[in-house]
Amino acid sequence: MAMTPRERFLAALDGQPVDRVPVANPTSIITRGLQEKAGVFFPEANYEAEPMAELALAGHTICGYDAVSPAFGAGTHESAALGVPTRWGDRDSLPAQEKAIWSHPDEIEIPDDFLDRPSVKSVIDAIRLLKDEVGDRVAVIGKVFGPWSLSYHTIGLQKFLIQTMKDPGFVHAALERLKPIPKMYAQAQIEAGADALTYACHITADLIRPSAVPDYVLPIHQEMAAEIDCPLILHCCGRTIDRIEHFNKNGMAAFHFESANDAKEMRDQADMVLIGNINNTNTLVAGEREDVRREVHYAIEAGVDMIAPECAVPVTAKLENVIAVRDSVDEYYDALH
Ligand SMILES: [Zn+2]
Repeated sequence: MAMTPRERFLAALDGQPVDRVPVANPTSIITRGLQEKAGVFFPEANYEAEPMAELALAGHTICGYDAVSPAFGAGTHESAALGVPTRWGDRDSLPAQEKAIWSHPDEIEIPDDFLDRPSVKSVIDAIRLLKDEVGDRVAVIGKVFGPWSLSYHTIGLQKFLIQTMKDPGFVHAALERLKPIPKMYAQAQIEAGADALTYACHITADLIRPSAVPDYVLPIHQEMAAEIDCPLILHCCGRTIDRIEHFNKNGMAAFHFESANDAKEMRDQADMVLIGNINNTNTLVAGEREDVRREVHYAIEAGVDMIAPECAVPVTAKLENVIAVRDSVDEYYDALH
């Protein structure tokens, strides 16, 4: 018996057998083409619940993915609610933070009405709409940014990373003060109907040494996994194979990884469920259907548990390539029969 998309997603996330590996989207798959096809556009779909839910739904109805996910930006909802000036994107660009607002952990302040601030509330409401619409059939993935990534957005990436060398106390204090945000935002998304949450922590090899993981974020990851009452999917961009031994200890259900890591090598070293790792720039933006197929089949054979674009798909990617991720999984299984 074929599984429903939601059953397939939840089984894979739990390491259980599936009829075919699910196709998931822990980060955005919204392209200009998908906006046009759905007739719903950025920027409204980034701050209003109804268009946001409608565009997220297109990830299933048009692209055929087993999950829908409504928060397309990279932490912009949280940072906007904290007061960070935000560009909400347009047909050709994802939302982004404009500038940092704090220079010291002492300045960090979480507003009492954080969950009612419009940007955050729009995501919670969109999850509720999606749950009502498809929640018994299709998985709903929410998204939170951990305190490490939120520090980039509120204190500034460079300033924050310099403190890891100069003043570890600064870093620990910032993480401590920002930590309640993902916890309360996660809880609200779970209550609205999220089946799983992407937990973003950009502690990547391009930026920082592997030992920063146990020094700064591993205890926080473990705390999040223990306290947040739904499966967490860690997302970390870039090359991460040199720190996977630390991620293995975080207690989270899954790791969403990039194509900078070979899928077979990652499978050999990672203990958790793996989601990924179809390349964005060369494959989904510039490649052809055949390139997508080759990478998808390689990932399945490597033992990647769910197939997904490696990170937020650039808005300029070809819609047919985003759909080809789905089709390539189906073709792989159809060829077995
Ligand atoms: Zn990423």
